[in-house]
Amino acid sequence: MTAPAYDSNNIFAKILRGEIPCKKVYEDDHVLAFHDISPQAPSHILVLPKGEYVSMDDFTQKAAPGEIAALFRALGQIARDEGLHETGYRVISNCGLNGGQEVPHLHLHLLGGRKLGRMVQQAA
Ligand code: 5GP
Repeated sequence: MTAPAYDSNNIFAKILRGEIPCKKVYEDDHVLAFHDISPQAPSHILVLPKGEYVSMDDFTQKAAPGEIAALFRALGQIARDEGLHETGYRVISNCGLNGGQEVPHLHLHLLGGRKLGRMVQQAA
């Protein structure tokens, strides 16, 4: 799979540039995290690299080791800050068509606050 070119008009690029507001929960040099606008669980946080990466496929090919480490360090820190480590949580990154990715800027969904059920819905 070849990642498509980065679209700098995607909604998360606008949030990263401060053109659209978000409910921020965390920020450092490499990472921004904010509440999902349509939460699927009591806690639903999106964790993004600030760099222009379309998807997990793009990120794992092009990102510097420091960016990769920062994303996962931030994810764990946010989960602890939110108290999710006590009861457990789920991390999802949808990639491309079959993954159901809607916004073409890599993001990790951090979900918790209730039992989340089956990991993958059965095909209809
Ligand atoms: P995807 O399907 O790409 O993995 O997930 C995109 C997520 O972005 C969805 O859960 C959706 O609710 C969220 N989202 C879409 N637009 C906005 C927005 O403008 N602000 C915030 N905070 N979340 C958004």
